Amino acid sequence: MQYVEKVLSELKAKNPNEPEFHQAATEILNGLKPVIERHPEYEKAALLERFVEPERVILFRVPWVDDSGAVHVNKGYRVQFNSAIGPYKGGLRFHPSVNLSIIKFLGLEQILKNSLTGLPIGGGKGGSDFDPKGKTDHEIMKFCQSFMTELYRHIGQDTDVPAGDIGVGGREIGYLFGQYKRIRDEHVGVLTGRGLSYGGSLARKEATGYGLVYMTEEALKCRKDSFKGKTVIVSGSGNVAIYACEKAQSLGAKVVAMYDSNGYVYDKNGIKLDVVKQIKEVERGRLKEYADRVQGAEYREGCKGIWTIPCDIALPCATQNEIDKESAETLVKNGVKYVGEGANMPSTLEAIAVFQKAGVVFLPAKAANAGGVATSALEMAQSSGRLFWSFEEVDAKLKTIMINIYHNMDDAAKEYGVEGDYVAGANIAGFKKVAEAMMAHGIV
Ligand code: NDP
Repeated sequence: MQYVEKVLSELKAKNPNEPEFHQAATEILNGLKPVIERHPEYEKAALLERFVEPERVILFRVPWVDDSGAVHVNKGYRVQFNSAIGPYKGGLRFHPSVNLSIIKFLGLEQILKNSLTGLPIGGGKGGSDFDPKGKTDHEIMKFCQSFMTELYRHIGQDTDVPAGDIGVGGREIGYLFGQYKRIRDEHVGVLTGRGLSYGGSLARKEATGYGLVYMTEEALKCRKDSFKGKTVIVSGSGNVAIYACEKAQSLGAKVVAMYDSNGYVYDKNGIKLDVVKQIKEVERGRLKEYADRVQGAEYREGCKGIWTIPCDIALPCATQNEIDKESAETLVKNGVKYVGEGANMPSTLEAIAVFQKAGVVFLPAKAANAGGVATSALEMAQSSGRLFWSFEEVDAKLKTIMINIYHNMDDAAKEYGVEGDYVAGANIAGFKKVAEAMMAHGIV
């Protein structure tokens, strides 16, 4: 389709050296072709050109002093991508690999993900190339305070509401919130993922992982199947991975492997999640230690080998492009039937093609991991209403949202003649509302 090709080639020319952004835009715009065909008015209004250009990109310096007195300077980013349907919403990532390309790919995905939740939230993303690994609590606090000393002027409860992502969990959100409150002198829901003692929501910590499993469970149910007795691989061992593992296990699955950025553990008897939680959440240690503590478990250096372990269901929950074509082919050869993306863009475009060709039920990130941001929006609702819902209430709402997203993308795929293609289905279902709002707002 000429219009989509033109927008993609302009995007690549205007934004060179942004491969992750190109990858996400290619996946999204290709999936939108059936909608664009039905709406020629979108091309006249340059809707796609506006959709792929962030409304605002903020780049800033983050200077901080470590415990030995040495001065460091990191880069800070906030991409306020699209506010057509609500205030910008999306996480902050602290990881040495962070650059503009990564933040833009995440922001673009976030627009459609947030729309899919059915809640009034726009898309944004931010972060820094700061590496929290090996830093003391005091250093983390100094960094977070410096980061917020610039970011505070760009965000607000009705403007832009950041949350966590890789490297940003409860501790970091606490320090960021403390600094925002100090500078602005207001105790409002400007960040989500907050602690329960200062405005957080129950079930937010669990939401992305649980949500991923709720959606996968619905996909299984629609095929008269369930998690019971299934062999599952969950990559990563951070927030999303831990709670995906917990919910899958509670539904009767056997999770046999997980990893961190150094290597993976294979436990044929089923991962002991309390040991993983102790190592990763309490001690902030390395997964390697799991094999020292659990008899019969094996640890192997490097991550890629995890995908050679046979499984029925793969839940990649670590980072972008963790499953390439070769890993996808190995998974298919070993009998994988379902892939649910907990991380953002964990499968390369080539890997997705392998899964789809083999008839694997492929649940793309923007739908499958939307439970985190959906629960963040529930946290915002509780903050505005000065309410505090029970764990069961939030969890029940989360489950309903995930089941609805599954059926919305399934229906959209059917409506546009691409039944079973959930990549297209999710893109279409998310885009329709954003496009309608953008058209209603005129050329802005
Ligand atoms: P965490 O920082 O809690 O955990 C990340 C996990 O992935 C860690 O185990 C980390 O290993 C591993 N990891 C990170 N980078 C790499 C890499 N390059 N290679 C191998 N392993 C890696 O992050 P989250 O769990 O919050 O996020 C995981 C994914 O889920 C990300 O893609 C994020 O964007 C996505 N996501 C998160 C949401 C949330 O609510 N938190 C919501 C929606 C999506 P190590 O410990 O060694 O660093």
